[in-house]
Order: sequence, then C-alpha cells, then structure tokens
Amino acid sequence: MRLDLIRTTIAAAALTCLLTLTGCQPVPREAYAPVIETPPLFAPRHLGYSVLGKPIELYTVGYGPEKVLVLAAIHGNEIAGISLAKRLVDRLKILDHLHSQYTVMVLPIVNPDGVAVGSRFNANGIDLNRNFPAANRINSMSFGLQSLTEPESQILHDLIVAQEPDRIISIHQPLNCLDYDGPGEGIVNVMATYCPLPVNKLGSRSGSLGSFCGVENNIPIVTMELTEADSNLSAAELWDLYGFAVLSAITYPNLPF
Ligand SMILES: [Zn+2]
Repeated sequence: MRLDLIRTTIAAAALTCLLTLTGCQPVPREAYAPVIETPPLFAPRHLGYSVLGKPIELYTVGYGPEKVLVLAAIHGNEIAGISLAKRLVDRLKILDHLHSQYTVMVLPIVNPDGVAVGSRFNANGIDLNRNFPAANRINSMSFGLQSLTEPESQILHDLIVAQEPDRIISIHQPLNCLDYDGPGEGIVNVMATYCPLPVNKLGSRSGSLGSFCGVENNIPIVTMELTEADSNLSAAELWDLYGFAVLSAITYPNLPF
C-alpha cells in the first residue's frame, strides 16, 4: 500500500512538473464556474454613425419570416420611446415562442446627437423625419436641401430597403395618438384596444418616414405618439402602458401569446 501511495505521489508530481515545463498548468477548480455570455443573436450591431460619430445600434431578436422594424428617438427630444424600445428588446428575448415566426429589428435611438442635447434635430440642424425621399418632400435648410443628406436618415433608409420589413412602428411624442401611413389602419385599431392612445390620422408630413414607407412604398407604418408626461415614466411603467400594444403590432394580425 505504501509503495503504491509513493508511486502515485511521484506520478502526480511528475505530471505537474511536465505541465509546468510545457506551459500547461493544471486548470484550477474555479475555471469550471459557468460563464454566462450574451448570445450573439441578441448582440447589438452598429449600423453606422451619427454626424458626431455616435454609433447607431440595431438589436435583432428572432429569425422568423415576418420582419418588423421598431424605432425610436428619430427626434432627439422624444426620449420616452428609447426606454420603451429597450424594454421591448428585453421582453422579446424571453418570448422565445415568437422567435421562429418574427424577426424584430429594434433601433432604440435613431438620432443620438439630438438625444445628447435634447434637440428634435440632428447635429446639422436637420429634422431627420423630413429628410426622406417622398413625393411630398420639401427641400429646405431644416428638412435638408435634398433627401437623405444626413447619415442617420441614410442608415435608416438603407436598413428598410435592405430588409423590406412587413411593418414599421416609429415611436414619437407628444401628440397622444396612434397615427399611420399606408395600409396600417388595421394595426392601429388593434393597438388602440391595448393602450390608452386613440387612433388619430394626422396626415402625411412632407418627406417623413411615414410618407416614404407608407405612401411611397405601401409598407404599413404606425407613428406611435406617446404623451409629454411619458418622459417621466420608468421603463417598467412605459411597458405597463404600451408594451402589449407594441407586441400586438409586431404579431399583427395574430395575438402575441
Ligand atoms: Zn417626433
């Protein structure tokens, strides 16, 4: 027995020496602790950069054939949509029964330079939601001397052209309503049953995202106008008010459960 014990001890010491000499240290026990990483599926992707070099991040959840784009803060002083959009990403991650049916693309901040200073406009003083190529657009100093003069509107335009979403939800403030362009009436009627915002057709604004997507390209687009006071709400409170309405737009005409 003692001889076996000595042999085992010598063998273990020899193995340790060999591993040390070859640079391979025995793996300490703690290395087996579970490592939790963000799945690549949910990692944000930088689509490009704002005028002042801030990244514009796209979150994609799911891989299904129905594509839905949700975006917020194309006007930098309308910040409630940022919290709501980020909360949406977190909720979608755990609603895994939706992943095989829907690809949901979320842009929580289209206009990061405007958000940084609380301005509706981007760093060049352009209203990005008037900078799109639509028949009703007006060239001007605040709408752009032509369409897509701004990197932020180019990025959003290119994403829509490349991905061809089936529906778009654009979150704004403070007009307290559900507006739509293109064939989006059915969507807002369902959304209105799940949130306090009434349906109100505001009319297509010149060179807006709604005009470009809904009127020019027949993509249903909802302009979700939250209230002014919603800027003071937490993400959880915003989700309680509007979360199910957004989910119902994503899964329209189906219900999200
Ligand atoms: Zn707005």
